Amino acid sequence: MRELLDAGMVSGDLSDAAGGVQAEKNGKIVITFDDGFENVFRNAMPVLKECGFRAIQFIVSGFIGKRNSWDEALDGLTEPLMDEAQIREWLAQGHRIGAHTRTHRRLPSLPSGAMREEIESSKKELEDRFGVAVEDFCYPHGAYDQRVADMVQEVGFKTACTIRFGVNRQGVNPFQLLRMTARRESRGLKHWVRQWKTRGLQWEI
Ligand SMILES: [Zn+2]
Repeated sequence: MRELLDAGMVSGDLSDAAGGVQAEKNGKIVITFDDGFENVFRNAMPVLKECGFRAIQFIVSGFIGKRNSWDEALDGLTEPLMDEAQIREWLAQGHRIGAHTRTHRRLPSLPSGAMREEIESSKKELEDRFGVAVEDFCYPHGAYDQRVADMVQEVGFKTACTIRFGVNRQGVNPFQLLRMTARRESRGLKHWVRQWKTRGLQWEI
């Protein structure tokens, strides 16, 4: 986050991400976190504040205050997820929430009724509970197909995030937004930041 700040990046919203080259030229980035982990609340929120960035967390509406048991099969370990009070504090600090289904199922394998239930009720539950508009969706496990993307749009979301790598440029499908994973060895992200800094004011539209 400090590298992004030093490079001159500023927080945008996911609706900007679909806006093409102007958003990139202005250095607009969107910091996203999947699943609503309590460790984001604990570890990332102070850094976000220090850097003046806003972020969005994609919440699994049926697991607020629980643990991410859908990942238990991977290594037997689970982590605590934010509870209601923590999500309220997250919002109070100027951050946003998006929906990540009710129970973190793989959507393409579900029949239509169950798929709609996962997508639509996660939006409604979060909006009712927290009193904010929930317009951004994120596909659990990055799994989606046209049928899933169509339903996300149909129930009223404005964007959806995948786990496919890349920068969102002009003409990107707002229901198939690209992202870059920021880990210690996130060369793709470092490369993009360097390139962005180099091009600076010479950016051509
Ligand atoms: Zn997830």
